Amino acid sequence: MEVREEGQAGLVCTWQPCALCGAPFGMFGEDRVYVAYDEEGGPIGRICPACSGSGEEGLAERLRRRAGRLRREAGWLEGLAEEGVRFRVEA
Ligand SMILES: [Zn+2]
Repeated sequence: MEVREEGQAGLVCTWQPCALCGAPFGMFGEDRVYVAYDEEGGPIGRICPACSGSGEEGLAERLRRRAGRLRREAGWLEGLAEEGVRFRVEA
C-alpha cells in the first residue's frame, strides 16, 4: 500500500469515513489530501489526518488494530446469527 499526497481539499468541504481506520473526518480549504493506493495502483480512498500523520510503522499498527476490531465485531455478529433470530409480533 502506498499513501500519496494529492493537493489541497479546496473550497468544497468533504465529510467522509477514513478508507483505512473508518473514523469520520472532514477536509476543507488548505487541508492536504492523502489517498491510499494498493500495490497494483488501485485507489483505496482518502485517509484521515491521524492515519496520514502516523508514519509508515504507525499506520501499519493502526491497520492491525482496526483489523482486530473488525474480527471481534465479525465474531459478535456471527454469534448473534448462530443464536437464531426471532421476531416477536404484538398480538
Ligand atoms: Zn484514518
